[in-house]
Amino acid sequence: MIKLHEIAEGVKQGKIRALAKAITLIESRNLDHSVAATTLLDELLPASGNAIRLGISGVPGAGKSTFIESLGLLLTGEGHRVAVLAVDPSSQISGGSILGDKTRMELLARDPNAFIRPSPSGDTLGGVARKTRETMLLCEAAGYDVIIVETVGVGQSEITVASMVDFFLLLQIPGAGDELQGIKKGVMEIADAILINKAEGDNRPRAELARAQYVNALHLLKPRSSHWTVPALLCSALQQEGIAEVWATVLAYRQAMATSGEFDRKRRQQATAWMWTLVMDDLKDLFLRDRNVEALLGPVQEAVAGGITTPSAAARRLLEAFKRH
Ligand code: GDP
Repeated sequence: MIKLHEIAEGVKQGKIRALAKAITLIESRNLDHSVAATTLLDELLPASGNAIRLGISGVPGAGKSTFIESLGLLLTGEGHRVAVLAVDPSSQISGGSILGDKTRMELLARDPNAFIRPSPSGDTLGGVARKTRETMLLCEAAGYDVIIVETVGVGQSEITVASMVDFFLLLQIPGAGDELQGIKKGVMEIADAILINKAEGDNRPRAELARAQYVNALHLLKPRSSHWTVPALLCSALQQEGIAEVWATVLAYRQAMATSGEFDRKRRQQATAWMWTLVMDDLKDLFLRDRNVEALLGPVQEAVAGGITTPSAAARRLLEAFKRH
């Protein structure tokens, strides 16, 4: 018997054990648990939404965990409560996780005002994203006022994380030569700031050069908001330099967006888009598990592959079979 009300109350009081139980329900594949998780989220929704949500991406080795630890400690030092979540689709591909293992961010992990949760594993990106998004709401209800969602620069995960946060930070390292080669098409377009890490000592001139290149490239992009110019910043996560400036940038962004009304608009759009994603995912599931469809799927697919039926005629046949209930 799951004592949902008790868990909800515990979460609202910021109790870690209740929060962990709630997250376990969300991550569970058991149908009863997912029904319970939905009820729990409904109950906790009014208590959520009060955090600033920060997404961070960068290739492995860029310094994400070092940076998150530096920023996290700075924030808990200022009295914030920080939750760090991860979206790591690599666990599904490789069976191992690039992000979120417990040995990373050791200092922050020991901080009573920080909560670190590794990526839900063994799932599709859509599944991981859903669980992370719901976990974010739980953490907010538990009183965490800064949520950091970390991801690696592979596949679609950056776009997915950008769609669940207020501010998306792209962490880069200065390399040799053309900096922009290292940046995937489409990713710079979703960044709210670019942060060049490891900009200390001998690395500093190269980092400055990289910054100039990013600034030039950013000028060529169409701004997403007339109220925000995407900056390129420098920092050293290891030496803890430039970290406060990053946080000041996040706060300046929030201020500018709140004043213009874009902050709430973006959250509303994100929530609606998420609802549609869930509807579409469930519809696809229903479709694939439908007995009429199941019976037709193999032969129809073969007919399309063999050039006997056109894809559009095949799609129509499958959809008609689905609708026949
Ligand atoms: P992640 O894979 O993106 O999480 O990267 P890590 O935070 O694990 O960092 C990868 C390596 O880069 C580690 O050896 C860090 O100590 C190092 N590193 C991280 N930040 C800095 C920095 O600002 N300067 C230097 N020199 N090294 C750094």
